[in-house]
Amino acid sequence: MKFDDLLTGFIRLHVLHHAAEHEIYGQWMIDELANHGYRLSPGTLYPMLHAMERRGYLVSRVTREGRTARKLYKATKLGRQGLALVKLRVREFTGEAMKH
Ligand SMILES: [Zn+2]
Repeated sequence: MKFDDLLTGFIRLHVLHHAAEHEIYGQWMIDELANHGYRLSPGTLYPMLHAMERRGYLVSRVTREGRTARKLYKATKLGRQGLALVKLRVREFTGEAMKH
């Protein structure tokens, strides 16, 4: 994705936002991000989810429907705290950026 280095933190924030509301899984998140104009491949999103889990922002559990296993993620307390802080920063930044 073009400018992915600039957008990556924003994508993580978007993931946390939804994972704080309900359990998410990879393909759902890819579709949701596509609705907002982000084109992410599974090869980009899945490592991001794994990294966020390693950092303690997300926890996962595996569910099975027949033969297909699906990994569901939700935000941890740490993830929610990070989300709250970054939302403050985004609000602050948006106020500044929209003046120009
Ligand atoms: Zn969204």
